[in-house]
Amino acid sequence: MSVYIESPEHQALRRAVGDLARRYGAEYFQTKARAGEPTDELWAEAGKLGYLGVNLPAEYGGGGAGIAELAIVLEELGAAGCPLLMLIVSPAICGTVIARFGTEQQKQRWLPGLSDGSRRMAFGITEPDAGSNSHRIGTIARRDGGDWLLSGRKVFISGIDHADAVLFVGRTEDAVTGKLKPALFIVPRDTPGFEYRPIPMELVTAERQFQVFLDDVRLPAEALVGDENAGLLQLFAGLNPERIMTAAFTLGIARQALNTAVEYAKTRTVWDTPIGAHQGIAHPLAQCTIEVELARLMMQKAAHLYDAGDDPAAGEAANMAKYAAGEASCRAVDQAVQTLGGNGLSQEYGLAALLTATRVGRVAPVSREMILNYVAQHTLGLPRSY
Ligand SMILES: Cc1cc2nc3c(=O)[nH]c(=O)nc-3n(C[C@H](O)[C@H](O)[C@H](O)COP(=O)(O)OP(=O)(O)OC[C@H]3O[C@@H](n4cnc5c(N)ncnc54)[C@H](O)[C@@H]3O)c2cc1C
Repeated sequence: MSVYIESPEHQALRRAVGDLARRYGAEYFQTKARAGEPTDELWAEAGKLGYLGVNLPAEYGGGGAGIAELAIVLEELGAAGCPLLMLIVSPAICGTVIARFGTEQQKQRWLPGLSDGSRRMAFGITEPDAGSNSHRIGTIARRDGGDWLLSGRKVFISGIDHADAVLFVGRTEDAVTGKLKPALFIVPRDTPGFEYRPIPMELVTAERQFQVFLDDVRLPAEALVGDENAGLLQLFAGLNPERIMTAAFTLGIARQALNTAVEYAKTRTVWDTPIGAHQGIAHPLAQCTIEVELARLMMQKAAHLYDAGDDPAAGEAANMAKYAAGEASCRAVDQAVQTLGGNGLSQEYGLAALLTATRVGRVAPVSREMILNYVAQHTLGLPRSY
């Protein structure tokens, strides 16, 4: 099926997820988020209906589809005002990495729960001293008999308090070179030596971000995902879905903001016609709609390439899609806020909260500058400056 023409199955999935999410809606989502409460009812219902694990293998309880389908789920949740950030992490990164590279035991232990939403897994790569430079990752795994001892610090890790475990990216002791040779470990949240503290953020989301301290965390040999020497390949397998899903996250939010703004512009009248009749209001909304649609196409292309197994091409497309979605969404939400005048900043309309939510798509999981570096270097063949 062409990426340009959505299949009847995809259209049906879009409608069904939208129907579910609209029953909850933006007011439910933002009220929960402002109260610091989890959106567990929605998560559980989406899990029961098979939406959260739509990309995971059917033999482990998933839907047997791909990232294209999971991106539809997240986009439609966001478009209805319920952007569940943990979808980026739990099924898309952790589920993908375990399904593709985990041992049979890891698959059986984690995938059914990640598929039906009864278990969640966070993902931790970012470190305070490494930031965008993942070659500098300093979380070290040492062997101690048959066990591993994991030590290091992480920052901005989303949703640990709602997760059963975290998939941490570290490196083994003998792999401390200038090059990234990651090793991935599944660390249950209650493991001694694993501590986390919330970071106060200006975000209205159900998931908080955490600082993490790992102090000689003792892990059994089977905590290591897949092969110690193939960590980079495994990591990239998870990072492409992460970028595609971050695009879906911000594009869903952008659609919700534009819908709200367009409805408002049709009815709000302060001169003789609704404000939407003024081109100063109509044209920027039209422009944002075009940019969002273009970014969605790029996201669909990236998902299509990823699901077809073309990791290198998916890598470039996923970076471009994440960039395009981040930019289009920030502009769309900014314009939506402007369209509502003072109401754009009110809690009643909930648009101002989306300003910071879409900014996340410019910074995480990889900043727009690092994507521009990637495209300059890999797509254009320009020399690297850093
Ligand atoms: C809401 C939120 C949720 C997150 N959730 C997670 C999570 O669940 N798990 C996780 O591991 N991480 C998570 N992150 C972290 C996120 O991935 C990082 O913030 C991101 O990778 C940027 O790293 P940094 O913040 O250290 O910025 P820095 O690396 O310090 O960069 C700061 C600025 O410098 C620019 N810069 C850096 N190097 C260059 C260069 N060579 N050329 C040009 N510009 C450059 C960057 O683009 C950026 O604008 C989250 C972040 C946020 C905001």
